[in-house]
Amino acid sequence: RSFADFHVSEEIKRALAVLKYETPTEVQSEVIPLAMKNQDLVVKAQTGSGKTASFGIPVSDMVEWEEKKPQAIILTPTRELAVQVCEDITNIGRFKRIKAVAVYGKEPFSKQKDELKQKTHVVVGTPGRVMDHIERETLILYQIKYLIIDEADEMLNRGFIDEVEAIIKELPSNRVTMVFSATLPKDVENLCHKYMKDPIQIKI
Ligand code: AMP
Repeated sequence: RSFADFHVSEEIKRALAVLKYETPTEVQSEVIPLAMKNQDLVVKAQTGSGKTASFGIPVSDMVEWEEKKPQAIILTPTRELAVQVCEDITNIGRFKRIKAVAVYGKEPFSKQKDELKQKTHVVVGTPGRVMDHIERETLILYQIKYLIIDEADEMLNRGFIDEVEAIIKELPSNRVTMVFSATLPKDVENLCHKYMKDPIQIKI
């Protein structure tokens, strides 16, 4: 299989060529076609499998440049991962001029607030700071169509379950949800069961 087989735009394909992603990894081959059909997915995949691009490609393809408010939220357990994912989305979406903003604790709120005031397509962040931005209305949610929870098991290990649930409850229910996790413990499965629409499980 090659990226040419996927129904993603030429702009995304050009970006993948620049990144020298020639052949999709296993998780990308499984996830991208289903994600492009707006299917909710629970994906068991490790770091290093290419999981970031497996959601980064469909999200970058599907967001519409013209919309003024954020269309996708990606939750990560750590600041480092938020920064990395934000960079990956920026690279994948470069020819669409996709603007991704990372928000996380220990960085001034005001700097992120100013960034979010500009046109932003994708917000990547840790749950506490994302919730802060929601509460202070510096992050507007009515255009959100995609929610990605990355490293869900790690998120729950760090005690972020309540914040994650509080964020989910604020989001439009008409959205696509994708959960990525290296392991699928009971509390991850419960969370998926509670907030997803007939998710398909993919195990890599
Ligand atoms: P991840 O599992 O998302 O952390 O990705 C692991 C590494 O693989 C990252 O450095 C990516 O840039 C790289 N990568 C992801 N997809 C591909 C691909 N299809 N071809 C080559 N490298 C890739």
